[in-house]
Amino acid sequence: MDNCIMQVVGNRPQFIKLASVSREIRTRGYKEIIIHSGQHFDENMSDIFFRELDIPQPDRNLHISGGSHAEMTARIMIAIEKVILEYIPQIVIVYGDTNTTLAVALVVKKLNIPLVHIEAGPRTGNMNNPEEVNRVIIDHISDLLCTPDKSSFQNLIREGLEENAFFTGDVMYDIFVQSMKSIGQKEILKKYSVEKDKYILMTWHRQENTADRDTIQQIIELVELIDETIVCPLHPRTRNALRQFGLWNRINAVRNLHIVEPVGYLEMITLVSNCRMTLTDSGGLSKESFFAGVKCLFMANLHVWPELEESGWIYHMSKKNSFNIDFIHKAFKNNKVDSMQPNFYGDGNAAEIIVNEIEKRFNLKGCR
Ligand code: UDP
Repeated sequence: MDNCIMQVVGNRPQFIKLASVSREIRTRGYKEIIIHSGQHFDENMSDIFFRELDIPQPDRNLHISGGSHAEMTARIMIAIEKVILEYIPQIVIVYGDTNTTLAVALVVKKLNIPLVHIEAGPRTGNMNNPEEVNRVIIDHISDLLCTPDKSSFQNLIREGLEENAFFTGDVMYDIFVQSMKSIGQKEILKKYSVEKDKYILMTWHRQENTADRDTIQQIIELVELIDETIVCPLHPRTRNALRQFGLWNRINAVRNLHIVEPVGYLEMITLVSNCRMTLTDSGGLSKESFFAGVKCLFMANLHVWPELEESGWIYHMSKKNSFNIDFIHKAFKNNKVDSMQPNFYGDGNAAEIIVNEIEKRFNLKGCR
């Protein structure tokens, strides 16, 4: 048994969200135990984030990846229960909406250990989306719900969760602000042979955009219509899907499209901060676009960040490529978020607010 704060993560965006909270916990002198479920595991998708963001190496890796939703959730539940019983943490912190988060939340709740959910409250209203199912369940069994924006907070109030809900701001914004201070941007742009405002940044990985050939083809057709340099760090799932559907050669023939391996966080935020616009199906990148003052064409029928849609930063892709191209022509770079822009995601100190609230609500005696 160990008096500690346990944090459990498993995929790329969770490593990024973990960074500023881990820093805050360690700065205050608490003993932190980090558990990695193993969902993302190689250098590009995992190790680089721990190194670049100065996150301690995980104390334990469960090495669980792949399989169906049920298999993965069940395997993580079985493995994490043993680890939790070994450490008996004072509280457990989880992030976002993955199967790792769901599995851990269920186990922690039944062991009667306080559970903190960071990035609580976003809702798409679509229960056919597996992440939505995870989000709703996790929020309803967590003891502290830290919301990144006010609309997520309102969603939780509507669901009767006001007692545990707290608007803290977004830990992704914290790490974005902190990291931007120390990057050699020129070298990174040179490495990818791009110039400020003269390229589009694209990422593409959601299951609904990689599972069938027609959807993949529609995205390729859009890319073929764009007459600008596009840099695309390609997710392994998309690479596999393109190969599986026999579309790898076709996408590689698009002259203006530069497909590269997934990049580290520092390169990514440099690429987003200097591009003319983003084309993505990533919830995280669509938000980072706003942090960087760049418009986003969102390639999924999910409405996760209402403030950004209402204020015109995120535009949803149409089924007709002519409409998408029209938006791409209109999206312009010289619309940086100025200081009068409402700060939807807090002030870059969400981790501090979260740890303050944890200290207020839970007994951390002995964790130092
Ligand atoms: N990201 C990265 N390198 C890449 C692609 C994405 O560092 O090659 C970062 C991106 O900046 C964002 C996060 O990973 O912070 C988003 O992860 P992803 O798109 O995998 O997941 P989602 O946001 O859809 O949950």
